[in-house]
Amino acid sequence: VKSIGVLTSGGDAPGMNAAVRAVARTCLNKGIDVYGVMLGYKGLHEGQFYKFNRHSTRNIINIGGTILKSARFPEFKNPQIRLEAIEQMKAVGMEALVVIGGDGSYHGALELTKLGVNCIGIPGTIDNDIPLTDHTIGFDTALNTIVEALDRLRDTSGSHQRCTILEVMGRTCGDLAVNAGLACGAEIVITSETGFDEEKVIERLRQSKAGDKKHAIVVITEHVTDVNELAKRIEAATGFETRANVLGHLQRGGRPSANDRVLASRMGVRAVELLEQGKGGLAICEQGGVITEVPMLTLFDSKRDVPEELYEDVLKLR
Ligand code: ATP
Repeated sequence: VKSIGVLTSGGDAPGMNAAVRAVARTCLNKGIDVYGVMLGYKGLHEGQFYKFNRHSTRNIINIGGTILKSARFPEFKNPQIRLEAIEQMKAVGMEALVVIGGDGSYHGALELTKLGVNCIGIPGTIDNDIPLTDHTIGFDTALNTIVEALDRLRDTSGSHQRCTILEVMGRTCGDLAVNAGLACGAEIVITSETGFDEEKVIERLRQSKAGDKKHAIVVITEHVTDVNELAKRIEAATGFETRANVLGHLQRGGRPSANDRVLASRMGVRAVELLEQGKGGLAICEQGGVITEVPMLTLFDSKRDVPEELYEDVLKLR
């Protein structure tokens, strides 16, 4: 392969830049031309390409967000739009593509591979919601951001003897919530993976209040319930003064953690090596500390393993 493009797509995640840098450096060290594609598939369709040199990715390994920007571009589901994007690639001689993003981005990558443009996916999302990889790029940084926020909330929650609810991201994946809950000594972790019995939650907090417990932390994944309404119901039922907090996009920004930079760098190298071998339609994974790859089709047919033991440990430690 003589020329490779790299794009970031879907939600941004800290560490994406480290992956872009790794792709660019690996290409340049192998004598392969490399282009940064702006704005995900939108920029691919519009031909927004920038040829990288050795200096293009200087000073980005430690920066959050994505220098290539990201955009939602549902039009890419249209086969005609994909053919037009391939024409743009051909115009600059770009033969293959590294796609850094989530599940949706992988679908676009597989469609391009079917049309003869080899694509390799790198999992970039804070949610850790991609099957067959232990971690996605951005998860560790977001987790650390949540832990820092929860430590601060604990101070005020303890001082005022309150129950504090913190809503975190993750979509349908509870990994951010359960790991943060374990790291911060949460009383209760609620995610869509484990289900949610409000009566049980209230009963548990009532018992805590009746016992020695003076404050409590509840971590909950987004989209499970309205946390402000939940706070009101908990307060009414238990007498615990309760406040809800939504961390929101604060979780998406910030300097990538060391773990995310290492993961992104290793995955970026691997992606270029696979393209060099003429492979496509594969998703890079980390399994037990080893960087490997699986066919995207296998990944689409797979479910994430719910880390049951982490949820059990939360119960054991409260
Ligand atoms: P995140 O997990 O952060 O949301 P994602 O990659 O899952 O990331 P999506 O918005 O689902 O985010 O997808 C990103 C982009 O991938 C879409 O805007 C669209 O351009 C492209 N895409 C998604 N699904 C498909 C599909 N079925 N076929 C072709 N392209 C797709």
